[in-house]
Amino acid sequence: MFQEVPDPHPGPGQVVVKVAGSGLCHTDFTVISRDLPYWKDHPPPFTLGHEIAGWVEELGTGARGFQRGDAVAVNPSWASCGRCHLCRSGEENHCLEQKAIRAPGVGYDGGHAPYVLVPEARFLVPIGGLDPVLAAPLTDAGITTYTAIKQALPVIWPGSTAVVIGVGGLGLYAVQFLRQLTGARVVAVDSSEARLKLAREYGADNLIASGPEAAGQIRDLTGGIGATFVLDCVGVNATLATAVAALSWRGRLTMVGAGGGSIPFDFFKMPPGAQLVTSLNGGGIALKEVIDMAALGRLRIPVDRYPLSAAKQAYEDFQQGHLVGRAVLIPGAAG
Ligand SMILES: [Zn+2]
Ligand SMILES: [Zn+2]
Repeated sequence: MFQEVPDPHPGPGQVVVKVAGSGLCHTDFTVISRDLPYWKDHPPPFTLGHEIAGWVEELGTGARGFQRGDAVAVNPSWASCGRCHLCRSGEENHCLEQKAIRAPGVGYDGGHAPYVLVPEARFLVPIGGLDPVLAAPLTDAGITTYTAIKQALPVIWPGSTAVVIGVGGLGLYAVQFLRQLTGARVVAVDSSEARLKLAREYGADNLIASGPEAAGQIRDLTGGIGATFVLDCVGVNATLATAVAALSWRGRLTMVGAGGGSIPFDFFKMPPGAQLVTSLNGGGIALKEVIDMAALGRLRIPVDRYPLSAAKQAYEDFQQGHLVGRAVLIPGAAG
């Protein structure tokens, strides 16, 4: 629903960012349907959009390190404390003090607006000459997959097999990070032939159609061993079942897709030594690293641009599976 909102002004320590681009994410649908237990304390209405980049517009008193006009990406871990062990290690996304998942567009006013109020300057990462419209999806889709893969590196050795289930908005980054950071064979699994074709262009070695046969095909590719790493970017019952059936002994399954699926954590139904983890977003260090990779030209960032006034159309295209890349809303564009 569109609504006129007043332009924000920064209080002490806060920063107003002029939005260049604000990405759409599957989480937005969860937020819209209020299908999460978190909304009791922070009920809507608030502005959607948690993948934000733009230019510093106005700095509140005491907000340091930036000047008006600086191009920045916005780390969405706004509920992080900045002081706990994980925050200090750059993992603000998993801050120990957080009580609920909270981000711009998820409890706070987000980026689907001409301006966004960022609560602290520490959430801004300079992007230099990188196009902020391209930087926007990196703040969630980019760092989520990057972080999941970086933490899994000990199980992804050269010659092992890494599987990405779902090669859409998240998975296409995952394929690229696996190619950039590891010597593993990269297998893409998806139901869409067009997306699989794109995954091949982005570096996938093998393409597999989703379905009950997929896990067996992965086992065949690996001489029966299975994949030492599976990244589930969908997270429904069927993809989790494929993931576990394709996993090697002591393999690692990371679920980043919040599709609402589940799988029993059963001693005899899991490959011995298996690790099952979820991973939410990424921290400021990951964001800087991903931006640096993009600035070096190492990352292809597929973006479908929509003017902010076409937000409804963008969500419809998203829901109907018409998008190839990440949809990004652009407040400055003519509608
Ligand atoms: Zn998201
Ligand atoms: Zn913390």
